[in-house]
Amino acid sequence: MTLSTELDRCVMCGMCSQHCPTYQLTADENESPRGRIALIAALNSKQLDADAHLQTHLKHCTGCRACEAYCPSGVRFGTIMNEAKALLPNLPAPSMPSPQTIRWLRLYQRSGLQKITRASGLLKPLGLAQKENLLPHIPDTPDWRSYYPAKPGISHCGDIALFTGCIANIFDREALDASRRLLNALGYGVHVPPTQSCCGAMALHNGQADEATALSQQNLDAFSKLDIQAIVHTASGCTAHLSEYSQQLPEEQGFVNKIKDISQFLNELEWPAHLSIAPLHKTVALHTPCSLQNVLRQADAPRQLLQRIPKLEIVPLVQSTRCCGGAGQYMLEQADFARQLREQTLDALNHISLMKKARQKIDTLVTSNLGCALHLAAGLRERGQAIVVTHPVALLAKQLKLIKGCG
Ligand code: SF4
Ligand code: SF4
Repeated sequence: MTLSTELDRCVMCGMCSQHCPTYQLTADENESPRGRIALIAALNSKQLDADAHLQTHLKHCTGCRACEAYCPSGVRFGTIMNEAKALLPNLPAPSMPSPQTIRWLRLYQRSGLQKITRASGLLKPLGLAQKENLLPHIPDTPDWRSYYPAKPGISHCGDIALFTGCIANIFDREALDASRRLLNALGYGVHVPPTQSCCGAMALHNGQADEATALSQQNLDAFSKLDIQAIVHTASGCTAHLSEYSQQLPEEQGFVNKIKDISQFLNELEWPAHLSIAPLHKTVALHTPCSLQNVLRQADAPRQLLQRIPKLEIVPLVQSTRCCGGAGQYMLEQADFARQLREQTLDALNHISLMKKARQKIDTLVTSNLGCALHLAAGLRERGQAIVVTHPVALLAKQLKLIKGCG
């Protein structure tokens, strides 16, 4: 489908605008989905140049796709935006930290230099404080084995593949390890194909369609020969992109049909009687990432999964249906908008405590997307709030108890 055909579907009704986070922040039509579609249509027909004004309004879009979810005409705004980005000149390539950079950053944290630097306030005058504050704890990341069999003594239910991603493989390692352990405990063997790569979402969102297609192809090659029931992942932003590979490679619908958010997949299984989950006397706030809600359409999956933990009280963030601003590189490149959107989300978290809806003090925020987790955790650090941000599967795996010594 061409960009023009997709643009023509928009009847300019404006019903999407009230759901757009940037329009809600600014009340500026140029910052609404309808306004952006008008700008892109003018760019595509060469009535407008890709000048600074036009580029700014397109770059302010978080890519949350709330507009798409609420559009009565079925306009695929995500597709429009990806194609429009390819028309913009000089978009920066996505910057992924190299293994060497990760090693240096890990040393920076372990040596205690990070604590000293943060306490000194030296980074603020250099304009680096905000970026540095985004840096989460970097765990050890031992190499994956290519296959983890189901726990001995449990009937084998089949095989699953785990997508580990690029950034997620480092910063979402706890959730990935927890997923693997849970799947093994449920009777599934888990493949972790060593030749898989980044999902390609950041490349596509930066107008680099060829690079994105090459990464997609690498993943298709890595997973295609496996005899598996599903391909699961923990970061909903990447899972959402994997679930749309057939838009770039239409013949790959078979791969797409196997892609599942980990909570969704775990909810669909019948849990065997040998597994028991220890009660958790705690209240957690639940954040719903846009990618889970608007693309994967699995907004309720984490809540359903967490309900397996006895005594756990789950309180959804009211603001959760709106983008938190942690949209991949957005939190770095559009720091001002990202911060304003994050403040709204964190205010909603405080609101829960203030309204005493929760029986106990909230010390845990649960989210299913790594980008949101990093962004929200940085905001909580900035506010001096000691709230842990974690993944639903990581929380559940901690409560997992296996009877008959299978743990
Ligand atoms: S994208 Fe959909 S909801 Fe928004 S203005 Fe166009 S047709 Fe209306
Ligand atoms: S993707 Fe999100 S931020 Fe972008 S126009 Fe749509 S609703 Fe607004």
